[in-house]
Amino acid sequence: MSVSRRAFLRTAVRGGAGAAAAACTAVAGAPAATALQRPPKPAAPQAVGLLYDSTLCIGCKACVTACKDANGMPPDVSPDQTAWNDAGQWDTPVDLSARTLNVIKVYTHGTMAAKDRETDGFAFVKRQCLHCTDPSCVSVCPVSAMTKDPVSGIVSHDPDACIGCRYCVLSCPFGVPRYDYNDAFGEIKKCQLCKHRLAENTLPACADVCPTGATLFGPTPDLLAEAKRRTALTPGERTHFPRGDIAGTVGGPRDGHEATVHAAYLPHIYGERELGGTQCLAVSAVPFDKLNLPTNVPDNGYPTLSEGIQHTLYAGMVGPAALFAGLAYLAHRTARDHDDD
Ligand code: SF4
Ligand code: SF4
Ligand code: SF4
Repeated sequence: MSVSRRAFLRTAVRGGAGAAAAACTAVAGAPAATALQRPPKPAAPQAVGLLYDSTLCIGCKACVTACKDANGMPPDVSPDQTAWNDAGQWDTPVDLSARTLNVIKVYTHGTMAAKDRETDGFAFVKRQCLHCTDPSCVSVCPVSAMTKDPVSGIVSHDPDACIGCRYCVLSCPFGVPRYDYNDAFGEIKKCQLCKHRLAENTLPACADVCPTGATLFGPTPDLLAEAKRRTALTPGERTHFPRGDIAGTVGGPRDGHEATVHAAYLPHIYGERELGGTQCLAVSAVPFDKLNLPTNVPDNGYPTLSEGIQHTLYAGMVGPAALFAGLAYLAHRTARDHDDD
C-alpha cells in the first residue's frame, strides 16, 4: 500500500499530540495524556451554522453552483475530465479543492435501487467546513491566520496573515482546507459560511438556493433541536421541513414544505459530539462512515490534548529554566573569581 506525502504528514500532525503525550509519560514520568487535556472550549454565544439533511437532498448541486458564484470561485475540471471538458465549459468538481468550497458527493452500493438505503442504495452528502467548536485548524496556525469569531463561531482564514505553512490543511480531521498550488503565492481556501453575505443579512448561498431545505441555515442550537426532531420521525409520517433560515431572521421568513418521511433517520446527529462538536450538523439514513465522514473520533477536539500538553510542557520548563539561569550565574561568578585570582 502506498502512502502519499500528504497522508503521511496529516497522520504525523494528528499523531503528534499522542506521541508527545506518550513521550511525556514514558520519559519524564508525566501524568497520563488524558490528565493533560485542557477543558473543551464552549460553543460561541451566537453560534450559527448549517443543518444538512441527506434524506432531503436530491443531488441537484444548486448549492455547489451558488457557492461558486457567491465566492468568486473558478470552474473545477479534474484531470480525468479533460478529454471531454478541455475548455472547462462544465464546472464538475468531484471533491473539495482550492476552487471548490462546497461539494455534493454520492455514496453508492450494489444495484443502487433505492435512495437513502445502505444496501443496494445510494445517498448524497454535502462537504464543506463544519465550523468546529474547538477547531484544530485554528489551534495549529502559528500566525493566527485561521481564526474563530468569538461571537458567531465562524472559522475564517486571513490570506494576508497566512505564511502558507499548511498546518491547517494537515490538522483538519475533515480534510477541509485546501492549498492553491496553482497560485504563485498559494492560498488556503475553505468555506467561511458566506460571512460576507451574512453581513448584509443575506443567507449563505447554499442555504439560499437549496430547493428542498436539505441545507438549512440558522443558530446552531435551533438546528440541533430541528435535527433531534427529525431523527425522532418515522417513515410514513407527514411533517414540515423549513427552508432558508430556521429562525426566519436572515433573508426573511420563507415557506418550507410538507412531506412524508420516506427513510428511517439514524439516531445520530453528526457534529453534535464529534471532536467537541461542530456548528454545521448533518442527519442521514445511511451511516456517516459510509458517507466518508470520520466517526471513530473522540468527543473532545484534538486541541484539548495538544494544547494541554503544550501548556504543561511550557509550565514544566519554568523550573529547569530557573535552574539553568542559576547554574549559569554560578558558573559566571566562579569564572570571574578565578580571573580575579
Ligand atoms: S441544493 Fe440542496 S438539494 Fe440540491 S444538492 Fe445542494 S443540498 Fe442537495
Ligand atoms: S472542519 Fe476543519 S477547517 Fe473547518 S473549522 Fe473544523 S478543523 Fe477548521
Ligand atoms: S456557506 Fe457559503 S462558502 Fe460555505 S458552503 Fe455554503 S455557499 Fe459555500
